[in-house]
Amino acid sequence: MDAIDQLDHIAITVKAHRLLRQLLKENPRLEEILRNSKNEIEAHVGIREWVIEELRERPQALAYYEGRSSGREAFEVLSWSDYAAVRLLDYIDHAGREFVDLNLRGEVAVSTPVRQLWLAVNQGTGGAKPDFFDDMLQLLRQFAGRATVRTPTRDEVESWMDRYPSGLDPRIVALRQENRERILHLIIDRMDRGELQSRRFAFDPGMSRADKLARALEWWADPTFHLRMAVRSPQLLNEMLGNSLDPDTMRVLQRAQDAGIPFFVNPYYLSLLHVRVPYFAIGADLAIRHYVVYSQQLVEEFGQIRAWEKEDLVRPGRPNAAGWMLPPYDNVHRRYPDVSILIPDTTGRACGGLCSSCQRMFDFQRGSLNFDLQALEPRESWPRKLGELMRYFEEDSQIRDILITGGDALMSSDAALARILDAVYGMAAAKRAANAARERKYAEIQRVRLGTRLPAYLPQRITPEMADILARFREKAAEVGIRQFVIQTHFESPMEVTPEARDAVQRLLSAGWMVTNQLVFTAGASRRGHTTKLREVLNEVGVLPYYTFVVKGYRENSFNYAPVARVVQEELEEKRIGRVPERFYDEVRELPTRADTMLRQVSTLRGRACVPFLATDRSVLNLPAVGKSLTFRVIGITRYGRRILEFDHDRTRAHSPIIDRMGKVIVIESKSIGEYLRQLAEMGEDPAEYEGLYGYSMGQTEPRLPLYELPEYDFDVTDELTNFQLPPDDDEQVLDTADPVA
Ligand code: SF4
Repeated sequence: MDAIDQLDHIAITVKAHRLLRQLLKENPRLEEILRNSKNEIEAHVGIREWVIEELRERPQALAYYEGRSSGREAFEVLSWSDYAAVRLLDYIDHAGREFVDLNLRGEVAVSTPVRQLWLAVNQGTGGAKPDFFDDMLQLLRQFAGRATVRTPTRDEVESWMDRYPSGLDPRIVALRQENRERILHLIIDRMDRGELQSRRFAFDPGMSRADKLARALEWWADPTFHLRMAVRSPQLLNEMLGNSLDPDTMRVLQRAQDAGIPFFVNPYYLSLLHVRVPYFAIGADLAIRHYVVYSQQLVEEFGQIRAWEKEDLVRPGRPNAAGWMLPPYDNVHRRYPDVSILIPDTTGRACGGLCSSCQRMFDFQRGSLNFDLQALEPRESWPRKLGELMRYFEEDSQIRDILITGGDALMSSDAALARILDAVYGMAAAKRAANAARERKYAEIQRVRLGTRLPAYLPQRITPEMADILARFREKAAEVGIRQFVIQTHFESPMEVTPEARDAVQRLLSAGWMVTNQLVFTAGASRRGHTTKLREVLNEVGVLPYYTFVVKGYRENSFNYAPVARVVQEELEEKRIGRVPERFYDEVRELPTRADTMLRQVSTLRGRACVPFLATDRSVLNLPAVGKSLTFRVIGITRYGRRILEFDHDRTRAHSPIIDRMGKVIVIESKSIGEYLRQLAEMGEDPAEYEGLYGYSMGQTEPRLPLYELPEYDFDVTDELTNFQLPPDDDEQVLDTADPVA
């Protein structure tokens, strides 16, 4: 008997029995099927007949289920109970499939929901947990039309948004000033005791306390001060937070340090956290707090974390998991034909802080990203290597969009940043010149992006000198065909949009760079109204939302994970109120071309379209394979109630040819819907406000807005792929992206 069969003998709990009894009471037909079936196979047949019978009246749902219709339009005509019917049929079709579950360090997960019900009804066993039965109960209610969904009104959404003040609220600004002084006093104390020494940041002999504070307040505007004084231990973190962390949290943080997880919280970012929580901002800083305070699951998994995006692993002489041949270093990542990521060997391999649910935690685990700022200074060999990397882009037939990131692109010094941008300019110019002699033209560079979270983590780093470097690059790069200049940032909470952040964004916009935002939809950020409020506040400072990402990762990120159902609910219920009508698309398309007037443009557009914010972002999951998508169906569920989702690639954009071989992508969620709702309740939310959440069991990727499209060339680009090689069928990395074992 294998381990999975053994679980079938485990008796279900009293709570599970109660939920089962309710399920059967509400669904006599289901009870009849389950009691009269000799085994699960007969139960499958009975349930399938029942569902198909219902679907005869709903041909659109049957067509969607059978794959005869697909896409956004087909999805939008489905009724609420259609979702449930499709899910029931998918559960039956995929019953018995086994998957490698990286949430359980590679243990096998199996989906047998009907078997679980049959065992529970006929033998009281199966070992399924209450979260499983709860999910099934909601599914059957949805199927029978007893559970409906109600789209909230704009007023309701706005009332949820009102729960969250922004960092620009004068009351919050005053609180942060209080925090700043508290932190500076602690730093002064440590300097006086000789625990902190710096030649650059030192007091003159005989200075009074007031003089010292005045001097420290001047230092506050200097980014180097924040990097130098960043907190690197849990004890100091607690001290800086007025010893407000409880003993349990401190125990987890101590274990985090022992496990080797870096701590790096700079004083500015620390000042965004409340120590004294005022009545009007209860829970407002939670999304930030959860980024700083590591979870138990992260601590337990650190050292065992598996890379989510397999194509980020470079194997010299062999294609990556997406089929791209890359330079033999870890500086270039590539998923798509037209886009490439550049990670320089500079202090850009650090960040302004460590986000607890970082997509690159795997890189922090193996040390290729870290906070050893001195050691990250570029070596003598870097200019030569940079030249080699540029040749790769120059000689590639398809790359037209370079995303310079890290870590954080703006953590590089001004000199290092200017060097990289100069190299990109030279490469773009050379690529263009070489095209003149080519019959079959290569793609020329059209877009340069800088990935940075510093506008949120350390806005002081966006200095006039840096803005000058960016403005000068923009001016000359426009002459070699580069048309879009984008700062891709990451604000997580409206509370991160402070006066300092607003000024930083304004500097970037004045330099002619558009600023877009990528939000990670953590549990804290997923509360009703939180993300919509962030979109509104971002628009108010001239930032355009770009992506809302499902949290990536496995068990290490389960604390911060918000289920995909909630992402879809947010998209369809809350983000909806900011949807830009198509008649404004021409104006939207023009936004990137005049970044310096972005604030005015965005405000005019919001007014004309009568929307509180421009919902310019797409909600997606970065697949643990290639690309982004929110086209999925829930096809299974574990006995713990964790859902198993099958994703399709986003077919509306250019992809590596490998996706045709990969087929669909399986994702097993690290948290059940029941667990998530309990977590929301812990955060003070009313789970009743999330009614309907269970029902969002499928999605279709939103269309991309025209402002994110690359301009057309006035020539045809060759189809040739210069750096592509299809990995062999048995390539372990490609296989790893598929996950199913049966
Ligand atoms: S800024 Fe980005 S790369 Fe750096 S820790 Fe945060 S999520 Fe990770």
